[in-house]
This record gives sequence, structure tokens and C-alpha cells, in this order.
Amino acid sequence: MNDTEKNLIIMENRDQKTVLKGLTLPELKEYFANSVGQRFRGQQLFNWMYNHLATDFDEMSSVPKLLRNKLREETEIVTLKYVASEVSPFNGTKKYIFETNENLKIESVIIPDGKRTTLCISTQVGCPLDCKFCATGLMGYKKNLTSGEIFDQYMMTAKDYGEDRISNIVYMGMGEPLLNYAATLKSLKIFAEELTTSISLKKITISTAGIAPKIKELADTGMNVKIALSLHSCFEDIRTKIMPINQKYSLQENIDAVRYYAKKTDTRITFEYVMLKDINDRPEDIAALGRLCARIPSKINIIPFNSLKHMNPEGLSGELEPTPQHRIEEFAQKLRDKNITVMVRDTQGEDIAAACGQLAIKF
Ligand code: SF4
Repeated sequence: MNDTEKNLIIMENRDQKTVLKGLTLPELKEYFANSVGQRFRGQQLFNWMYNHLATDFDEMSSVPKLLRNKLREETEIVTLKYVASEVSPFNGTKKYIFETNENLKIESVIIPDGKRTTLCISTQVGCPLDCKFCATGLMGYKKNLTSGEIFDQYMMTAKDYGEDRISNIVYMGMGEPLLNYAATLKSLKIFAEELTTSISLKKITISTAGIAPKIKELADTGMNVKIALSLHSCFEDIRTKIMPINQKYSLQENIDAVRYYAKKTDTRITFEYVMLKDINDRPEDIAALGRLCARIPSKINIIPFNSLKHMNPEGLSGELEPTPQHRIEEFAQKLRDKNITVMVRDTQGEDIAAACGQLAIKF
């Protein structure tokens, strides 16, 4: 383990217990070297926690009983508590609610879609960014999730739903992953280890509202996950209106950052585009998207806007209206006519308030 990795060791302690879940392989090896003088036990614990998804020390048959007892007394390997789940009778979308140690609730969603089944996970409780079309933004920010809490959303849903049925993961639930960069990166490092699960980094997408310096930093880590930029407008003034973070990191900075990311990682960028009536669905928006996609290897993911009425929002959030479905289809076709790859996302899960931008627990 090099000095940089040593510096990344952040041991979470809960009720005097060290939380092992969320530690990377080098961190676990270091922990066991220091605590019992057996570095190789770190590899075993890594394997049991992240590959076999063990939730109890008694499952760890290759670990001696005495050590298991000591670990039970001194450490923890599960960070979240299951609260509830709900399945949409229309399309099978399944929403899970989990609780953190601080009794804060988060949501994860499984979205079956033909051959693919995507798990959407959260990185923060709430979100500080206040995007006007997003229910999570209306909640405000509560806390950053730990790397263990991020991974445990996978562990708990995989155990319930079937590990081999989850093919993709998107960091697109509650929160902005790149504002919780350290924990997000640590969770990716866990997924990146060969032993971990059946999910490869190529099947993981980080969705960001646009934290330009962190997009570049992530590009330099060599993680090579996919990036989805929540674009929603090609015009600085409109983007600032619907996404206040644009004042801090402008659209131009983010375009530069994703261009850097695409080049460095040889991946295609996804531009997320929620369709807001008379705001970003005009002919000039089609022209601007055409110019943008000509400059960056990319595709556009069009998202029908989901109503926020169930939250009784004030201000612009309460005024936003969805673009009608037939106009969404026309918009998408005009982009395809420009040889742009365009997907129009179903509003899967809308009936259980689990669609994009609707993840918000009622506290
Ligand atoms: S869209 Fe994403 S970044 Fe914006 S408020 Fe919602 S959760 Fe936060």
C-alpha cells in the first residue's frame, strides 16, 4: 500500500466498533496487519463481505472461530437497515427504503428494462444542489453516505432481488456523487477489485449535475466508469435557472470536463435531458444539442419530467410542466435526424415515486 492509499484510510467507528464495510482491499489488509498481525485476513474479509455478500461473521467459514468472535465484538460489517420495499405492478420497478445508523432514510431502486436490470443507488441523504425539477433537491441535504453505505445498497438489493439479476449500476439516486467524492471513489475501488461481485466498472455510470473539477479528477483515476452529465439545457442562463450549481461550475467548464473525460477514458458521455415544456424543448435547443454532440462522443438520454405535485413545491419547481409525449417524440426524432443517438426513457416507477428526480423520503 502506498502513502496515498494509507492516507485514504478513514475508519468509521460506531458504538466503539470499527466499521469494516466500505474499506478497500489495501485498507482491510492494513487493518488486519495492525490488529492481529495477519495481513492475509484482509483478503479473506474482503472476499466474504464483497464477493459472498456475507452479513454475519458465522458465514465466514475460512476465518477461525476465535477471530470471528473477536470481530463480532470489535467490528461491524453491515451499515444499513432494511425498512421497506415496494414493487410497481405495472413494470416491476422495485423501490427499497433503508435506514442509516443516524435513523436517516435513503432509497435505492431496481429498474428492469428488457435484457438489462439497473440498480440506482444514492450517495447522499437528500441533496444540496436544489435542481428545480428534482424531488430530492426539495428535501435539502442531510449527510454524505459512507462508502460502506453506498456498497450496502448493492449488497442488500442483490441479496433480496438476486445478484445475477442486476446487470448495471447507476449512481443516480439521492444526492450528487461527486460532492461525496471520497466515498464514491472508495465504493468504485471495491467494485473494481477482481473478486467483487459480477458487476464490472464498465457497467457502472456516475451521474453528475456537473462538478467539473471532480469529473476531471475521476478521469485521472483510471476507474473508467461511464459518466452521465445532467445537461438539461445548452444555454448558460436557462441551465442556471433550473440548476443553480451552474453558477459555480458553468456549462462551458462542464463541457470541457466531459470532453476531457471522454478522451482520457475512451468512453462515450451520456447527456441527461429532462424535458420541460417551453423551457428546453424549443427548436433552438435541438440546434444547440446538435452542435454539442458533434463535438463530443456522446448520446442523449431524454427523460420525461415527472410531476412534483405530491411534494407541493413553491417557486419554479411548482411551475414546471412536462413536455407532452408527442412533442418529446418529435424532439427525439429531430435529433436522430442529425445522426445523434437518442434514448427516450420510460417514466418507469412513476406510480411508486421512484422515477428519476423523484427520490425523496417523506420525513
Ligand atoms: S437532480 Fe441530482 S444533483 Fe440535482 S438536486 Fe436532484 S439529486 Fe441533487
